[in-house]
Amino acid sequence: MNKYQEALDFLCDHAMEYIEDFDWEEYDCGDYYPLDKETLNTNKSVLQELIDRAMPMEPNEETATAEFINDYPTTVMIYRCAKCCEIVHPFDGDLYCRHCGQALDWSDDQ
Ligand SMILES: [Zn+2]
Repeated sequence: MNKYQEALDFLCDHAMEYIEDFDWEEYDCGDYYPLDKETLNTNKSVLQELIDRAMPMEPNEETATAEFINDYPTTVMIYRCAKCCEIVHPFDGDLYCRHCGQALDWSDDQ
């Protein structure tokens, strides 16, 4: 797990909500209880999206037919972002998908 995931999980594990209608006579400061799961998950998922995008994903490989040389059909390998399925280019040094921003892991392909 990376440090961003750890920090988000830590904050979610400790997320508390302030109880506004506590008894002023009985307590000299406010009271808190754990944040309800729905509110927590709604807000966590927004930040989880950023963390997931920063975690490198291997692109999907597929073959295609192109006509490069003298119009002769040639089989070529193309790569698609595993997140948005747009074409990404290992030889241009794409570290991120230029369509959706997903970090790319080329370690198996180069
Ligand atoms: Zn993408």
